[in-house]
Amino acid sequence: MGQSAFGVGQRMALDACTECGECLDVCPAVAASGDPALSAQVRMRTLKRLLRDRNPLWQAVKEVFGCAPLATPEALKEFGTSVFRCSLCGDCQEVCPARLPIKDLWLSLRQELSRTGDAPEKIRMIRDNLAGSHNVFDEDNDERGDWVDDMRNAPKGGCVRKTAEVVYFTGCVGAYFPLAQKIPMAFVEILDAAGVDFSIMAGDEWCCGFPLVGSGQAQDLPSVVAHNVEAVKAKGARKVVFTCPSCHQIWSEAYPREFELAHATQMVAELVLAGRLPLGEVPMTVTYHDPCDLGRGGRIFDEPRDVLARIPGLTFVEMAHCRQHCLCCGGGGNLEMIDPELSAAMSRRKVEEAVATGARAIITGCQQCVRTMTTYVKRNKVDIEVMDMCQLVARSVAAGRAAAAAPKAA
Ligand code: SF4
Ligand code: SF4
Repeated sequence: MGQSAFGVGQRMALDACTECGECLDVCPAVAASGDPALSAQVRMRTLKRLLRDRNPLWQAVKEVFGCAPLATPEALKEFGTSVFRCSLCGDCQEVCPARLPIKDLWLSLRQELSRTGDAPEKIRMIRDNLAGSHNVFDEDNDERGDWVDDMRNAPKGGCVRKTAEVVYFTGCVGAYFPLAQKIPMAFVEILDAAGVDFSIMAGDEWCCGFPLVGSGQAQDLPSVVAHNVEAVKAKGARKVVFTCPSCHQIWSEAYPREFELAHATQMVAELVLAGRLPLGEVPMTVTYHDPCDLGRGGRIFDEPRDVLARIPGLTFVEMAHCRQHCLCCGGGGNLEMIDPELSAAMSRRKVEEAVATGARAIITGCQQCVRTMTTYVKRNKVDIEVMDMCQLVARSVAAGRAAAAAPKAA
């Protein structure tokens, strides 16, 4: 790790940390592991020490006084792994009274650690998979749209159209992971029910590139962006919608501003408020999990709650930590790949908080959150349902249609 790795702003951020400890108190990785070294406070302190110990002048002073330098290759490797034992949830940044750009610092650190070879080996797989097959799972990219074939109520004429007003960018998890495929299925049912002129891009869609940035391998991003922008343009679309908050975030932050962008929760809220969906009764008590990249990242908190408020028969209860202070489910930052036990321990805290509300279902707006929490719930036989907002709305639409079709009492 070289001294040139950080810009002036990032070095100033390190120096501006007052060590108040607010970030340590909220860090879900610390709470789940009991290891304070995973907090922003301690990690920044360690980083300052490592950078100082790489300074030749400081090393010479240490040699004179007989101290061993701390920035040994082993210390750097250990620090490198610690930087990846973080879900990039952003709660440290949310609570930092000094308003330090901590998440940017983590991303720059990951970039630098992967450049110097001090990042965990496993993250190379992300780059290799994307370069080879354009998706994180290293599946055949031409099969990206195959989930449509498994739909019971696929839109007439399918989901791939030559041109469309709206492109639905499915994302890798929704496209390939069987448990998560129910989410794109539900979303296209909703778009179809509301009469939206939409298309998916199937094999013409490549991974959005968010995993490259999150794993510190952003150098490959430009070619991904160029491909996806051209593919959307080829459809003649004016708007791109996402069920994945990370796809939505990277398109908002790193793609050229050529299209209107919306997350599915925003689009569904718009359709519901415009009365374009026949919502029926869903008699159930639910709570809502704010995905980190959608809530803290995208500041989208109200739209999903607006939708929940309009589903007949539904009772909504908030968790103790919600909105900008929502607990992370453990599914972000490639944490599952680096430390699956830590990811599962974070998921346990999340699910326990949801169960404590008395809700029968956790609703969220992210395939990865659904995947992480469902895996925990199934493995541990916890009696609570986990579903995406789109699945809940599709259920309500089905109930609305059934009620409309039922014979009226004389
Ligand atoms: S909350 Fe901010 S100022 Fe306080 S210890 Fe953490 S990074 Fe430093
Ligand atoms: S981003 Fe989240 S998991 Fe990572 S250090 Fe900050 S609070 Fe902890």
